[in-house]
Amino acid sequence: MDLEKERASMVEHQLRRRGIGDSRVLAAMGEVPREAFVPEAEKRYAYVDGALPLSHGQTISQPLMVAMSVEALRLQGDETVLEIGAGSGYQAAILSKLAKKVYAIEIIPDLVANARRVLDSLGIDNVEIICADGRKGWPEGAPYDGIVVAAAAEEVPPALVEQLKEGGRLVVPVGGRWGQALQASRKRHGKLETEELCRCVFVPLVHGS
Ligand code: SAH
Repeated sequence: MDLEKERASMVEHQLRRRGIGDSRVLAAMGEVPREAFVPEAEKRYAYVDGALPLSHGQTISQPLMVAMSVEALRLQGDETVLEIGAGSGYQAAILSKLAKKVYAIEIIPDLVANARRVLDSLGIDNVEIICADGRKGWPEGAPYDGIVVAAAAEEVPPALVEQLKEGGRLVVPVGGRWGQALQASRKRHGKLETEELCRCVFVPLVHGS
């Protein structure tokens, strides 16, 4: 099993040939070892074309969903970005290659600790993983050039729109428990202009206490 070859093949077959065109996104997906973020028992499946289980009933998103979400932020490299639902930290690691500073919020303390450990082990130092309820955003780092939500929301949390810069982009799966639309929006004159990227299934964005 050669995980590096599998990673290169994942980028070509699961991403580039399915329409991911941003060369920086493809390079980041080709660089970050997904196997470092999945549980030991799943490592050999690190590059399968789907989501994989994490602990606490959570999942690490399908590579294509990560690539579509981060591509829609249209990052150039000098942005400050907020991720809601850091989970394993994989998408945060991808974002670390595409933006200047990443704040990643995760509500389950064990997952926060694990994501921090893995990011440290890879020498990624521009990501802050924060244990909090991401529905409130993270005012300390605001305003953001981009916000990406990796859990399904019934509606877009208003705090996220507030904390987004004018002209900034927001990507969020919106819908019910069993299916959502991945929405990509741009903030213009204080309001979101939204397009639907695809249908998707994310774990729910839960309400914190
Ligand atoms: N981006 C992750 C996958 C996330 S799965 C990765 O790359 O691995 C969605 C995550 O959202 C889960 O870990 C879940 O615990 C978290 N989550 C759910 N509701 C949340 C909330 N209100 N605030 C922060 N995180 C939340």
